[in-house]
Amino acid sequence: MSSLPIGIVMAVVINVLVSVYFFAVYRAQQRNPSYLYWSVSCALFAAGICASVVAHAVEGLQAVNALACLLLYTASFGLYCGLNKFELSPGSIRFYRRVRSLFIAGSALIAVAGFYAAMVNVVASVGMALMFVMTEGLFYQRKSPYKKVYLVLRALLLLHAFVLFLQGIVILVQTLAAQDSVTHYLFNIVLLSHLVLTVATALVLPLLQVMHQRHQWQTLANLDELTGLPSRRAFVQKAAKSLSANDQACHSLLMVDIDHFKQVNDQFGHTFGDEVLSRVGKMLAEGLRETDIVGRLGGEEFAILLPGISTERAQGVADRLRRKVSELKFKQGEQQVNITVSIGIAVSHEVLYNWEHLYSQADQALYTAKREGRNLVYVFS
Ligand code: GH3
Ligand code: MG
Ligand code: MG
Repeated sequence: MSSLPIGIVMAVVINVLVSVYFFAVYRAQQRNPSYLYWSVSCALFAAGICASVVAHAVEGLQAVNALACLLLYTASFGLYCGLNKFELSPGSIRFYRRVRSLFIAGSALIAVAGFYAAMVNVVASVGMALMFVMTEGLFYQRKSPYKKVYLVLRALLLLHAFVLFLQGIVILVQTLAAQDSVTHYLFNIVLLSHLVLTVATALVLPLLQVMHQRHQWQTLANLDELTGLPSRRAFVQKAAKSLSANDQACHSLLMVDIDHFKQVNDQFGHTFGDEVLSRVGKMLAEGLRETDIVGRLGGEEFAILLPGISTERAQGVADRLRRKVSELKFKQGEQQVNITVSIGIAVSHEVLYNWEHLYSQADQALYTAKREGRNLVYVFS
């Protein structure tokens, strides 16, 4: 197995590089602990391999071999800890305690087995295999926007667990049956697979980080911070999708614009204006069906798309919303401030209607409502 030394060097180099990369990400990403765990895990793995190489090269360094096993085992626990902290679902505390107990027990066993020559390698291999199985358990029923990367990671973890179990068995057989050439050959293959899988896992983690980052940017771009509603970008995307799906007979689009909002800002200040926007936005979103789409298009303009709702019903919804906004109570000091909205409606009766078409018609209807005196609902005709 002449490729083994190259494999070992590669595994060390890649793990050191990924460790440095994760440390930089950790520093840049508000000190997210996952990246620190992964950085330490990769560094420990590289150190573990180096220690293992030294222990095999020099006769009688049993303590170094035990240390190598401990480093590699701790590296696998580091991978678990990083994934446990990753994303929103931190995993159950009880599960974490179990894995931590497994880690402590495994470390103690490795320390004891350190006195029994190759037995320490058997214990460490099985311990790491168990750690990978536990890590894979983290993904059970965890929902994620990047399923494919999770799937690859799960497959790698399970394969790695299998390879490590095999490694444990092969070392055990080798130890008991004193250097059989078949098991020796198998051992090299298993060891090489172990290195390849470690490198693959170390390379998938940065991919996970990139996907996570992209998801965070997308979430930010799709959400209007002030009202908590979908932003214009997200609303238009969803509306266009709903329209093109054309599984509904018709769609009604309501364009809602706060009346004389500039005056409200000028008279009572922007902070008060922001509060008005926030409350009106939340009110518009109340009581909508799951298929309805609401968003803040910008400034003091909101839009609501109602799939399957015809003109009369849309008018009813719009009138109810207009009335509810006018009944909202805003106070600035002792003064009561009344807020009203104007609403323009456009309805798509044919499947040929696209978003731009509907938007332009609802906008024209809104313009008419403004011109006719405001606090009104107007349907495009
Ligand atoms: P109209 O009844 O014709 O709609 O008049 P209007 O004053 O509501 O419309 P106009 O377009 O003249 O003014 C909109 C104002 O909305 C101007 C801008 O300062 C204010 N605005 C836009 N975005 C925000 C925001 O995020 N917070 C606050 N407080 N004001 C905003
Ligand atoms: Mg306005
Ligand atoms: Mg406006």
